[in-house]
This record gives sequence, structure tokens and C-alpha cells, in this order.
Amino acid sequence: MSQPHVVIVGGGFGGLTAARCLRRAPVRVTLVDRENHHLFQPLLYQVATAMLSPADIASPIRHVLRRQRNARVILAEVTGVDPSRRVVALDEGELEYDFLVLATGATHSYFGHADWPTHAPGLKTIDDALEIRRRFMLAFERAERQEDGAARRAMLTFVVVGAGPTGVELAGAMIEIARRVIPRDFRVIDTSSARVILFEAQDRVLPAFPAAISVRALRDLKRMGVEVRLGETVTRIDDRGVSIGPERIGAGNVIWAAGVQASPTGASLGVPMDDNGRVRVEPDLSIPGYGEVFVIGDLAHVLDERSGGTVPGMAPGAIQMGRHVARTIASRAKDRTDTRAFRFVDKGMLATIGRGRAVAAISGRCIGGWPAWVLWAFVHVLFLIGFRNRLAVMAQWAWAYVTYQRGARLITGGPKGREGT
Ligand SMILES: Cc1cc2nc3c(=O)[nH]c(=O)nc-3n(C[C@H](O)[C@H](O)[C@H](O)COP(=O)(O)OP(=O)(O)OC[C@H]3O[C@@H](n4cnc5c(N)ncnc54)[C@H](O)[C@@H]3O)c2cc1C
Repeated sequence: MSQPHVVIVGGGFGGLTAARCLRRAPVRVTLVDRENHHLFQPLLYQVATAMLSPADIASPIRHVLRRQRNARVILAEVTGVDPSRRVVALDEGELEYDFLVLATGATHSYFGHADWPTHAPGLKTIDDALEIRRRFMLAFERAERQEDGAARRAMLTFVVVGAGPTGVELAGAMIEIARRVIPRDFRVIDTSSARVILFEAQDRVLPAFPAAISVRALRDLKRMGVEVRLGETVTRIDDRGVSIGPERIGAGNVIWAAGVQASPTGASLGVPMDDNGRVRVEPDLSIPGYGEVFVIGDLAHVLDERSGGTVPGMAPGAIQMGRHVARTIASRAKDRTDTRAFRFVDKGMLATIGRGRAVAAISGRCIGGWPAWVLWAFVHVLFLIGFRNRLAVMAQWAWAYVTYQRGARLITGGPKGREGT
């Protein structure tokens, strides 16, 4: 009898962990992803702000699994799942499975504003990061040629919507570049006069972190020169800036870091979902009525007994879920019943704000400044996949720390000189 076929959709933190943990199990693994690479999203903002290059934070999935003999990789888009026929629909063809792990993650949510993505790109993929980098760097080039003062000021105004970790990290990096990295490169404009405005609808930055962390982060951001506007909702975004009710701010660049929603693949399962499109899973992460189908990571709505809420959409949760379902599948493949409930272990939260500045909440303790930044750097390098990537990232950080320089300040792709006004 042939070994059970495990199809894993998504080679992100959850899916890739599940695949690797099944390396010794008596199963055949097929990992399907529409991209050929695993992406380390926590460092994506550093590609968007010219610190790192895409290849530093991404690894080809095929290469990561090259030594795993029971695994194969397929580059394809999954368009749906039919649990009653145990079939996954691909952009071309179908795949049958005995066990399915759906780990397609999340995407941006613009709260129903269909035109906002064009004016305010979000940060989720390498293409997104390169687009933000292109618009950001181009804004200074265009301002250098602009003679009208008001137009130039708008070009040098950058608005970040949403002060979660991504918004805070982007805003901090942008002000640092404008004030410390590029001032001497321009002859006409004073890049240090650039404004970075960070909007947050809630009353504090990093709303998911403990309040003490938010206070510290706000202080650091302000010291660096970021204008932080709390409790204010952006009501309009167009190609010339943003509106906050009756107030208008002309801005050459707007970046969206405010909302996420689950990837649409979960909807095809036909099981209950929450308001963000996440699939409500059973305690063992399977879906109601189909014990052989598991949903993990950002796509899953998983209750966390300890906090009383849901497991946060972050890398540690996805990794732990990947391990859990791999254990369950390996055990069932050996004809053992295994319906152990998933338990999330909260290892804390980290966010960086700028050079030598970060915040961390670990085991009820809040840390800031240099020690938090060292911890942040250590954890991120540790979880990066690939020795080459770790080395490359550490080298770039060391160089940037000593010289204030950023090596990836390239403007590539897209129409030059038109967008962003
Ligand atoms: C900018 C940013 C910064 C972040 N920073 C942090 C941080 O500092 N710390 C932290 O813990 N977490 C952070 N996160 C969150 C963390 O990255 C996610 O929680 C984690 O990636 C979720 O893992 P996942 O496996 O569910 O999904 P993902 O890692 O997103 O992987 C999903 C995979 O599915 C593939 N896919 C999607 N749809 C399809 C389809 N239809 N067909 C085939 N393949 C498909 C995608 O290509 C992708 O490879 C950040 C996220 C972002 C976007």
C-alpha cells in the first residue's frame, strides 16, 4: 500500500515548518506555493527601506527541501479545495490528498476601499517591498527637480497608515534615511526636512503590545522626528495625499499598514469563518466535519485558552501550528488516533523602531532601547532560513550601523518620475 499523500498549500512559516517536521514520517509530502520562495516577512520592511536586498530574506522552497526525500515542490496557484472529494484545485489541474494542510496566510484589507491599494501600497510580498522602495527613493529624486515649494513639500511628506509593528518599523526607517543617510547626496533639497507622519486609529502605537511598550515606542518615534497622530482615522486616500475628515495633507507617498484579512482560499472549504475570513478550526486545528483537513497560521482562527483571545497572526503561532499538525499527521499515518489539542506558547513580542532602538515584551517584562534591539536582531537572524542569508544580513547591519549607509538604494521597475504626487 502506498504511503498517505500530504498536500501542504503555502510555503510560509506554517506550511514550511509542517513539511520539514514530516521528513521522517511515513508519508509523501507535496508542498504547493504560488511563489518559488519562502519569505521572511518580518524583515520585509528592510527591503522596502533599502537596507536589505530581496535575496537576503527569501530562500527558494525547492532548495530548502532539497534533502528531504519524501517531499516534492509544485509552483502553482491553489484556486480552491473540495473536501468532499479530497481534491485541491490548481490553476492548472487538480491534486488528490489523504491529508491537507492549508497555510496560505493573510493579505491586506483596505476596509472596502477599492481604489486605495493603487495610492497606498501595503507590505506583504517582495514585489510590494520593491514598489514601496521605488516610490520612496523616487520622491527625493523628483523633489530635487521640483521648483514649486508647496509641491516639493508634498513630495517630501510620507504618510504611513497604521501603527502596528510594520507601520512603526517603516516610519522609523524612513525618517532615519531622510535625516541621517541621504542628506549629503542631494544638492538642492534638504532631505532632513522630510516629514514622516504615522496615523493610528487607536489611542496608542503598537496596540497589540502592553501599554508600557506603546509609551516607550511613542517616545522613541517622536525623538527620531516621526509625527505620530493617534486616535485619528484616515478617511480618504488619493494620488495627492490623505484626508482626515475635513483636514487635508498633501503627501507624495502613502503606505498602508493598517489592516489584514485572511487569504481567500479558506472560503472554498465551506466551513465557518470569522469576520477577517479566518477559518474557525477545531482544537486540533482540523476543520469541522473533515478530520484530515488542517488550517494553520494566519489563515486559522485559533482560540487561545490562556489569553482568552485568539492566537495572534505572527510567525511563532504559525510555526507552532505547523509542528503540531505534522505531529498529528505523522501519528495518524502510523494508524494511531491523535486528536491532541493545539496549545500556543507565547514567547513574547518584539518590534524595532530604528538604529539601536527596539521594544520587547517577554514573560510580562517590557524592555526597550539597545538591549531590546540586540535581542530583536538576534531572534531575527536566528529564524532566517539559510546560512548565506544570515551572514548577508549580519554583514549589512554591521556596515549600516558603522557607516549609516544602506546598500540597496536602487530605483528599479515601474514608470519613472510619474507616480507619487
Ligand atoms: C510586513 C510584515 C511584517 C511582519 N513582522 C512580523 C514580526 O516581526 N514578527 C512576527 O512574529 N510576525 C510578523 N509578521 C507576521 C508573520 O509574517 C505571519 O504571521 C506569518 O508569515 C504567517 O505564516 P503563514 O504560514 O500563515 O503565512 P505566510 O508566511 O504568509 O505564507 C503563506 C504562503 O502561502 C502562499 N500562498 C498564498 N496564497 C496561495 C495560493 N492561493 N496558492 C498557492 N500558494 C499561496 C504564499 O505565497 C506564501 O508563501 C509580519 C508580517 C508582515 C506582512
